Amino acid sequence: MTITNNVGLYLHIPFCLKKCRYCDFLSFPCSDEEALTEYTEALVREIRIKASEWPYRMIDSVYIGGGTPSILSEKNVARIMDQVNKNFVLSDDPEITIECNPATASEEKLQAFREMGINRISIGIQSWDNSVLRLMGRAHDKNDSFTAIRNAKKAGFDNINLDLMFGIPGQTMKMWRDSIRQCIFLRPQHISLYSLQLEEGTQFYKMVYEDHILSEPSEMTDRKMYHDAIIMLEDAGYNLYEISNAALPGYESFHNSKYWSYDDYLGLGLGASSFIGGVRYKNCTNMLEYLDYIKKGQAPVNVDDIEKYSKRDEMGIYVFTGLRKSEGIDIKEFEKIFGTKFFSVYDPSLINVYFGYLDFDGCRLKLTEEGRDIANRIMSEFV
Ligand code: SF4
Repeated sequence: MTITNNVGLYLHIPFCLKKCRYCDFLSFPCSDEEALTEYTEALVREIRIKASEWPYRMIDSVYIGGGTPSILSEKNVARIMDQVNKNFVLSDDPEITIECNPATASEEKLQAFREMGINRISIGIQSWDNSVLRLMGRAHDKNDSFTAIRNAKKAGFDNINLDLMFGIPGQTMKMWRDSIRQCIFLRPQHISLYSLQLEEGTQFYKMVYEDHILSEPSEMTDRKMYHDAIIMLEDAGYNLYEISNAALPGYESFHNSKYWSYDDYLGLGLGASSFIGGVRYKNCTNMLEYLDYIKKGQAPVNVDDIEKYSKRDEMGIYVFTGLRKSEGIDIKEFEKIFGTKFFSVYDPSLINVYFGYLDFDGCRLKLTEEGRDIANRIMSEFV
């Protein structure tokens, strides 16, 4: 069911300097060099295990994500890259990304990353306002962000992504617009914009819904922040190619596009997810269990987490993720992959029900600008 024969490789580093107040990702605060090296060694072994049990497929993108991968020493990242190169067949010019927190992005480190062949860097700026950063519990301030971007440019990175967040409690329209303006001024090749979702179990959730000491911006403010940002970015030459991602022409994220294009990806590391040949599975999320599996030379996959979705489920995933892209989904491609007419599966009246929110030209189905505001509602109609 795959679209290309190539595969994206995701490597998860589940450690951070500290836990941000809004974060519900699989990440733990850790600065113990021994523990970081122990995990690196396990990941390296997992790379070998997977590469040996895996049929010949070419890797055309590598994404080292987290957590905070830049918390690892140069030596540990070099170990990982070395094993990726030795154990997998890489395409001629793969996109290789590493995520960095501005607080852990020294000049020497970024230079070392570039020399290892890492050619794209994603920096978690989130906001250019120190009061917002403090409230979020981030480990960096805006000076760290400036320094990290300068270091990345000095190290020779010419494909830089900056992550930004909006809809943060306490964040005003002015703060948000200033953050966008600052990013545009620095001219990274790629900018990601995420609307903060308050997840149960996070400190922010408790502060907003239980302690009532913070309040969320209204839905209207959240949407205004999104639309203002898109206008500012498009005016500055960025193209919104995905609901949360804008890039200068030619700098769309190749790896992330796989997630929205029904392409295969292999995830390694604690809790990492994979989608290979129509099968989705997830590595275990318990660190001791993970290390134990690896010690025994086994893939760290819980049998319970191997999910063979039904064809109907897969169609839903194809449409749900594909509608995130500005170009939407290609009905012909859908029919080629699933061998079924699109409108024999989905009710054609949905096009009329969501008139003004969905655009269909007889070939492509996509969200309109207004449709992006109710994206989840529309996308769930296809699941
Ligand atoms: S740096 Fe990212 S992964 Fe780490 S705690 Fe903060 S939001 Fe979570």
